[in-house]
Amino acid sequence: MNNNEELRKIPRTDDLLLAAEGSALLRELPRALVAEALREETDRIRREIMQGERGSAPLLSEIIRKAEDALRGRPAVSLRRVVNATGVILHTNLGRAVLPEGAVRHLAEIAGSYSNLEYNLDEGTRGSRHDHAAALLCRLTGAEDAMLVNNNAAAVLLTLAALSAGRETILSRGELIEIGGAFRIPDIMECSGAILREVGTTNRTRISDYEKALGENTGLLMKVHPSNYRITGFTEEASLEEVAALAHANGLPMVYDMGSGLLTELRECGINEPDIRHALRQGADLVLCSGDKLLGGAQAGIVTGRRDLIEKLKIHPLARAFRVDRLTIAATEATLYEYLDADRAFQEVPVLRMIAADEAELRQRAEALCASLKAGLESVQRTGQDAPAMTFAVEPVSDKVGGGAAPETVLPGWAVTVRGGDAAEIERKLRLHEIPIIARVAEDRVWLSVRTLQEKDEDVIVKALSQA
Ligand SMILES: *Cc1c(COP(=O)(O)O)cnc(C)c1O
Repeated sequence: MNNNEELRKIPRTDDLLLAAEGSALLRELPRALVAEALREETDRIRREIMQGERGSAPLLSEIIRKAEDALRGRPAVSLRRVVNATGVILHTNLGRAVLPEGAVRHLAEIAGSYSNLEYNLDEGTRGSRHDHAAALLCRLTGAEDAMLVNNNAAAVLLTLAALSAGRETILSRGELIEIGGAFRIPDIMECSGAILREVGTTNRTRISDYEKALGENTGLLMKVHPSNYRITGFTEEASLEEVAALAHANGLPMVYDMGSGLLTELRECGINEPDIRHALRQGADLVLCSGDKLLGGAQAGIVTGRRDLIEKLKIHPLARAFRVDRLTIAATEATLYEYLDADRAFQEVPVLRMIAADEAELRQRAEALCASLKAGLESVQRTGQDAPAMTFAVEPVSDKVGGGAAPETVLPGWAVTVRGGDAAEIERKLRLHEIPIIARVAEDRVWLSVRTLQEKDEDVIVKALSQA
């Protein structure tokens, strides 16, 4: 068979790499990936010749070009930017908070240089990584001291281990919460070595329930904010002030797991969530919260409150396991900086900006996006190509804060909806676009909520939909 002769003509990978076009590719892309793509292409040609689907081997340059196309269409890394068109601001699956621009710049500078992470510049001696964000946190919350760990789950675990291991932590049955991702208070408690002493019932817990549970072996009184659910109806709850007063009267510390860390008031936006300063003033000795929920910064656990207690946390062995790197500190400190001026925070912190976005302005943005989409589709039609059969409209939507914060709050927003054929198919194409666009399908159409879109996202959407 002259099949064999044709098969022998398929160039070897090494020869392809030595060819001018091959070496040009190597200057740009890792050798291992280029070689792999070339091998995949020659394997395919070999199969096609053997199965009689192809008569002869293509030109060398043709093989390299095909391999290059395949390589360029493949994402270089796994973690990629996506467009969040869901209208859920703190979407845990999509990375929660988008950082303020100032934080992104600071993060990049610290990432690419040495820093005074554990170096005291005034004295020329060893310093502590805990000092960096602490100054701003104390200033913004009125706390005596502060500390960062990797996330709030770590903050809760470390606090329980350092303050209540082998001793009882008193907590209401109405606050035995589960946050997504296997964070369950009873499990964390067990992990820490603290002994959970549940009091009250699911819907009603009084201060007298805590009082009756006090004993020789009590280590801590705790309250946990039921972030992602609400108990309504026939309910009663001992307030933070009452629990703190009871703890102090008995020489015990009181800790509040606040969940979503808030540094400003959001009541004007219809969001009724506790803030750190307030909780400390009500008597919590430590307040624990996340850095990447309503606070709008990087993933971190923020501990604020009494210096002597935070000192105990710092010297616990788990503190080393939970310690934050310089990137987290850089992003957190630069985010906190925006809060020095409340108006500035609402402009600079994307989470706050998205929450406070004016409904009329959202509608205008949806109309502008809709117009760009229509124009994009028309320009495809003018080139005579097969334009996708789609129609666009502007419709009201209910956006959400997400991230287990303000679960009942609906933020009235606006979306561009896309109809045409199979909505699930449009959604899939958007999701598989080179910059993936995450959108919702409901009522036979795709919903692109503008609240969570960033300025740079609009062109991505127009491009993706005119190619769909
Ligand atoms: C979200 C949350 C946590 C976990 O915080 P992470 O920063 O995600 O680890 C713990 N407790 C409460 C009450 C929460 O809402």
